[in-house]
Amino acid sequence: MKRLTALFVMTLAFLVISWCWNVKDTETINQVSLLQWLTLGDYYGSKSIKELKELWNIWLGTFDGLNGELIMLDWVVYRGNDKLEIEVPSDDELIPFANVTFFDNDLEYELSDIDSIEELKEELDDKVSELGENRFYFVALSWEFNSIHIRSERKQEEVYKPLAEVLRVDQTEKKLDSVEWTIVAFFTPAYMADLNAAWWHFHFVSKDRKTWGHVLDLSIKDASVILDWTDNFKLYLPDWEFFKGLDLTVDQSADIKEVEQGK
Ligand SMILES: [Zn+2]
Repeated sequence: MKRLTALFVMTLAFLVISWCWNVKDTETINQVSLLQWLTLGDYYGSKSIKELKELWNIWLGTFDGLNGELIMLDWVVYRGNDKLEIEVPSDDELIPFANVTFFDNDLEYELSDIDSIEELKEELDDKVSELGENRFYFVALSWEFNSIHIRSERKQEEVYKPLAEVLRVDQTEKKLDSVEWTIVAFFTPAYMADLNAAWWHFHFVSKDRKTWGHVLDLSIKDASVILDWTDNFKLYLPDWEFFKGLDLTVDQSADIKEVEQGK
């Protein structure tokens, strides 16, 4: 009888553990809203940080009112404010746009002597063409760079301006030399260009967790690269009435390029 009870308890424990494991999906890119919707000037958050923390541990995005750029790393959500300094926001803050997934170490390698962000993109593109350019990637690069050029933006007040215009007038830029750092990059396949910026998006955080920003340019001495690929995608649309009838077929590729690259 004791044996039967022990067996029953073990089976139950196994079922509970495997159920918990299955609930947490580690192989899906979760996206809040569309970059195209943010670009038009919708900075109203639709998911709280608390809700998104349920969806795993690596994120890029922005905050309600465009209050700085967002990175989540080591299970902490950071805001790079308009002074390019780091703040830790409260779990109640709302997020209008983000990509969130679980960061697996699927591949690890080294890079050295990269002179520009374009060169870094080429290096990463080569790796992506090898591994398949129709899936999603999160990449974390860390170690030492020679220089980096970053930006963040000032919190907006209503009525909101389109994003490209905000970055023309309310953007702060900074150049840094020789700091240890981590960069988180997200790769969206080209066929998803109506939902997000196709190809790469880079966010930077210094190792001392004091400086943070969206990366405009850089020069790398040595870096270790960890790459995570993901083959599933889930989109969370805002539940606003005005979103439901909105025309999102307008071509915004020029604005999105300006937003990403600062040109
Ligand atoms: Zn950014």
